[in-house]
Amino acid sequence: MDWIDRRLDRLARSRFRNSFRLTEEDQDYIRRKGWFTLSRHAHSILSSRLAAAFPKNDGRQTPWRGHPVFVAQHATATCCRKCVERWHGIPRGRELSTDEIALLTAIVLRWILRRIDMIPNATNADTPWPQLTLPLD
Ligand SMILES: [Zn+2]
Repeated sequence: MDWIDRRLDRLARSRFRNSFRLTEEDQDYIRRKGWFTLSRHAHSILSSRLAAAFPKNDGRQTPWRGHPVFVAQHATATCCRKCVERWHGIPRGRELSTDEIALLTAIVLRWILRRIDMIPNATNADTPWPQLTLPLD
């Protein structure tokens, strides 16, 4: 149990944060794209929608569905700068550092990983190998 797990456990005690689920469609999408691509999507989405000092439409920039990362963002309070400030202690009004983006991305990915079986060649023989495609294609 590390700090990411502890933070996820704290988030899970919020009834609202704990209400988000990956649909079957989300899970199929992740398996189809592979973990490598999914993690690139997560990093790209957080960089483009959250990292600026004043992100566009802040507070409404994260859709409720349509990509597993969006769902995970609501569950992990990485959906907007207000939630990031409140739950992760990173103040609003300044750009996120590359480390902060990477760590918030790690939280998002851990939340997803807790909910999907991506162990290669173990219990899930269908897990695809990572595919080298551009993010958000
Ligand atoms: Zn938010």
